Amino acid sequence: MCLPKNMSKLELNYKELPPYDVLVAGGGSAGVAAAVSAARSGAKTVLIEKATFLGGMATGALVTPMMKNALDAKNTLTKGVFLEVCDRLVKAGGGATFNDGNPGWFNPEIYKWVLDEICSDAGVKIMFDNQIISCEVENKKVQKVFMFNKGGIFSISAKEFIDTTGDGDLIHLSGVSYEAKEKQAMSLRFMMSGVDLNEFASWLQKNDKSGDSPVYFLENGDILLSSAYTYEKSWTLKPFFDEALKKGDLTKEDAAYFQIFSVPGSPGFVAFNCPRITPENKALDPLNNDDTSWLLVHGRQMIKRISNFCKKYLPGFKKSYVSQIAPLIGVRESRRLIGQYILNAEDVLSGKKFDDAVANSNWPIDIHETARRRDGNGAMTGKPPHGDYYQIPLRSLLPKEDEIKNLIVAGRCLSATFEAQGSARIQANCWAMGEAAGMLAACRTK
Ligand SMILES: Cc1cc2nc3c(=O)[nH]c(=O)nc-3n(C[C@H](O)[C@H](O)[C@H](O)COP(=O)(O)OP(=O)(O)OC[C@H]3O[C@@H](n4cnc5c(N)ncnc54)[C@H](O)[C@@H]3O)c2cc1C
Repeated sequence: MCLPKNMSKLELNYKELPPYDVLVAGGGSAGVAAAVSAARSGAKTVLIEKATFLGGMATGALVTPMMKNALDAKNTLTKGVFLEVCDRLVKAGGGATFNDGNPGWFNPEIYKWVLDEICSDAGVKIMFDNQIISCEVENKKVQKVFMFNKGGIFSISAKEFIDTTGDGDLIHLSGVSYEAKEKQAMSLRFMMSGVDLNEFASWLQKNDKSGDSPVYFLENGDILLSSAYTYEKSWTLKPFFDEALKKGDLTKEDAAYFQIFSVPGSPGFVAFNCPRITPENKALDPLNNDDTSWLLVHGRQMIKRISNFCKKYLPGFKKSYVSQIAPLIGVRESRRLIGQYILNAEDVLSGKKFDDAVANSNWPIDIHETARRRDGNGAMTGKPPHGDYYQIPLRSLLPKEDEIKNLIVAGRCLSATFEAQGSARIQANCWAMGEAAGMLAACRTK
């Protein structure tokens, strides 16, 4: 490769940093869980994050709340660090439990400092604003990773590496097998403030006959509510959408998927799980910069129309305004490890159990189709048997035995088929996978 001459300036700034026992690449839900559990298990741990905050999709893509992973209101299927974080969120004034028992409602901004705190308390060294760009592999082991920041290029060696980049960057860089052909639709989420939640909640309570818009008034005065819609479905807010489509205030793509949630500890705040970007005749790839750049411009235009629609049509939104557009694109899926076990749809749908289980889940196969792959309304395509759950095995976090020996993978880039990843990717599962990965990595350093 021939680099421009002035690139040598960067080479001058190359420095090797002190080694660690465990290096965690990417500080989303899985990465924080991995780093905290590795450090608590006694390993000297560093967490490398390309953004300026932890949380990944949860904070940067504004993916709030976490979806419910429980058999009933009292028993969540994910415990451990996940429950500790939910508890810390409540104590910080940015968390709540919904009336269905889901403890995963949170304010993404407060979540950022809660995650800083849990990592710092565990003794994790956090390195923000560092993108991992390369790695050195020898004797089927990753020796060191290289990362880039304003100061130049740096490398860190470690005994064990954990890929929690969501996009499987370290899987790719270390030459491990992966799959990246099929991908779910991406979204660009946003928030509106200045909403009269009382007015909107009361309107929903009075008018919702479908049960698609649960409203829950908390003792502390918070209102938790959600409402969801796919274009084909009949629901409480459909007449507003029909009118806006007729008048040209929304396009069909804008209206195809709409979901809103209130945010605990944040009166007047509403988080949107939309727009979902599904242009006709254009398949978008989260690993292609042309596509993601186009998506950001297009997505912000969709947000302009959707927010104006809310102000004009929805009860309680008259004085609302856009207060945040997600700094990160909402990527549901990109690279998936091809590991020692590939979790599949049948495992999810049959409630399969494993001897080496690291996570329990009953979340359905939840696929948001791209334009290229669309064969329905993007709704769920099956769930585990009623009252049962499936498990994710540790082998779905491990590269094949003849590949890299000291790499563990956790989070949405686990070893799963397209369909199974559509279920396994929820935040609670990412926490459980990360926690197990951190424990194993620390154990292998001893
Ligand atoms: C639009 C959308 C809606 C969703 N809805 C829900 C929902 O309602 N409830 C739910 O529970 N789940 C939902 N999910 C799924 C869930 O949010 C994600 O699957 C989960 O948060 C992924 O966590 P992760 O730790 O695996 O990856 P991520 O959260 O993506 O974290 C990866 C981290 O690695 C960093 N990183 C990436 N590459 C590098 C690199 N080269 N060097 C350094 N750092 C790097 C990133 O900046 C990021 O912080 C949704 C996802 C999306 C996109």
